[in-house]
Amino acid sequence: MKRNLFFLLLLFFMFGATAIQAQQVIAHRGFWKTDGSAQNSITSLMKADSIQVYGSEVDIWLSSDGVPVVNHDADVTLDGEKLIIQDTPFATLRKVRLANGEPLPTAEEYLDAFEKCKHIKLIVEFKSHRAKEREDLLAEKIINMVRERGLEERVEYIAFGINFVQQARKLAPNAPVYYLNGDLSPKVLDTMKLSGFDYHYNVVYKKPDWVKEAHALGQKVNVWTVNKPEDIQKIIDLKVDFITTDEPLRVKEMLQAQ
Ligand code: MG
Repeated sequence: MKRNLFFLLLLFFMFGATAIQAQQVIAHRGFWKTDGSAQNSITSLMKADSIQVYGSEVDIWLSSDGVPVVNHDADVTLDGEKLIIQDTPFATLRKVRLANGEPLPTAEEYLDAFEKCKHIKLIVEFKSHRAKEREDLLAEKIINMVRERGLEERVEYIAFGINFVQQARKLAPNAPVYYLNGDLSPKVLDTMKLSGFDYHYNVVYKKPDWVKEAHALGQKVNVWTVNKPEDIQKIIDLKVDFITTDEPLRVKEMLQAQ
């Protein structure tokens, strides 16, 4: 009897573990390749939620007067003029319209919208700034906003900059934090107490053993930005945990077909 129970439990954990280890999709800059959407728009966040992927990625900068805003590039174009976000006050940045007509969102507005999402995690990318103090301020502001809204369990952090991943690890000790820059081995990331790497697929093609090394250290692996079917298949075969893509429906479909 006891023996049967043991095998039942064993089966349960084996299947449970399989389910947990399923590969997951992250919509890069939201789900933007669809009607009415645009990269890093609030619409792209809600659309990512509607297709029930694991997460939606978003890029965050700090304006010159300390307002965290959502945008990928370091600059925006307003009336034909290029403006560097970190040198521009929020009132000016606010006049910028995204490709779908939405005003450039603040991080607050983005998090308010995210609170209404039912399925996804938010993957926050801290963009590298010139001054360490600005980066520290940005990390502090965002992590406080997340905490105030009780969203700690639903937000993960990524960055190319070492300072940012260290700040995120310090200020949000329980949050998943991944490093993007492609140059550090899982062993080094382990000493930094990071959750794993989130590297370009070319890095992972050159260092496929890093996936196994990361898993052996209890880390997770994310790969960006995987869009072409042949790359998606290669990355699926490498058994990474997360696939960040501009084609979330395509990746989802390919994963379901495995
Ligand atoms: Mg990004």
